[in-house]
Amino acid sequence: MKELEERIKRDGRVLGSEVLKVDSFLTHQVDPELMEAIGRVFADAFKREKITKVVTIEASGIAPALYTAQILGVPMVFARKSKSITMDEELLTSEVYSFTKQVTSQVSISRKFLTSEDNVLIIDDFLANGQAAKGLIELCEQAGAKVAGVGIVIEKSFQTGRALLEDEGMRVVSLARIAGFSNGQVEFAEGDA
Ligand code: 5GP
Repeated sequence: MKELEERIKRDGRVLGSEVLKVDSFLTHQVDPELMEAIGRVFADAFKREKITKVVTIEASGIAPALYTAQILGVPMVFARKSKSITMDEELLTSEVYSFTKQVTSQVSISRKFLTSEDNVLIIDDFLANGQAAKGLIELCEQAGAKVAGVGIVIEKSFQTGRALLEDEGMRVVSLARIAGFSNGQVEFAEGDA
């Protein structure tokens, strides 16, 4: 997605050898126009799949997931990273190792929001080693829901996430694919959309 790549080039900051900071439009401050455009591309890529729910993980997946869900005309559900006292119903839970925080945490979704009738599109902001997406797939499996695919805003193709998901037969659509970082600059590979 050209517009996204331009924005990453303009506003992204490379931290070390593996991390990209995009807090001015995606992970902290959010650009609604760009998120809507992202939502359109994801919705278009999965329009034939009869998606019934878009599932993501808090916090930075919520913005692109919400626009995607609105355009597909279905609800968006986000997995919570910490249990709230208001979550008093039966929960689906899985363990996710966080690439950026380097801790394992439990993520959960109330069972009532995912059922065996659901055909889910998983959306997330970044794909690194695939642990967040894998945890979300596990939650869907616990509910007996089908997962139609995974939509990623920024894939770091030099990490193992895509291979992990594709080895499980999962369709992965990434809007920007980063081949690597060189001298603080982002080098792109061909994106999926
Ligand atoms: P994974 O679970 O695929 O290893 O990592 C994906 C998760 O880690 C995403 O949900 C995202 O929050 C975070 N993440 C991974 N790499 C980056 C990165 O380069 N920049 C930012 N801002 N977040 C990242």
